[in-house]
Amino acid sequence: MFLDIKQMQLGKVRFSETIPTGAMEFLDQQIRQAAPIETAGSAEVMEAVLEIRVRGHLRTCMEAACDRCLEPASFPIDTDFDLVYRPAAMAPEGEEVEVGGAETEVGFYDGDGLELSEVLREQILLSLPMQRVCGEGCKGICPVCGQNRNLVECLCQAATADDRWEKLKDL
Ligand SMILES: [Zn+2]
Ligand SMILES: [Zn+2]
Repeated sequence: MFLDIKQMQLGKVRFSETIPTGAMEFLDQQIRQAAPIETAGSAEVMEAVLEIRVRGHLRTCMEAACDRCLEPASFPIDTDFDLVYRPAAMAPEGEEVEVGGAETEVGFYDGDGLELSEVLREQILLSLPMQRVCGEGCKGICPVCGQNRNLVECLCQAATADDRWEKLKDL
């Protein structure tokens, strides 16, 4: 759905959409959409500065390889969003945009408005945790034999631990 600024100038634009599983693609090939994206909200424009504010709710589930064991891990997302977009012409040239802690995330748009899917994609990326693990207790891959330690109990770890004890004994 295209959020058209001309429509917003007539009044708040409401949206309610479901994007089927896998329909949204991500630049980062490591992540994929594993459930439909359900969203509802509204978009409005602040006339004076042509700033678009998109608010709503978003629910889906993403899948990505676990950072530790590389097995597919699920990341359910169920979040409110509140994003502000300014005309691209207003983007400061060659300067980093300062985003204060409390300030709403600010993006930029070109032309007559923006695609709702772009807004959702951005929000999904913001909602994913920095460290993507399949579970708090994931033991990861053994650096010695390369086996998934959640599935196999290899003896490498015990060996390294023993080495450490050996060193302590020397002291
Ligand atoms: Zn894992
Ligand atoms: Zn091992």
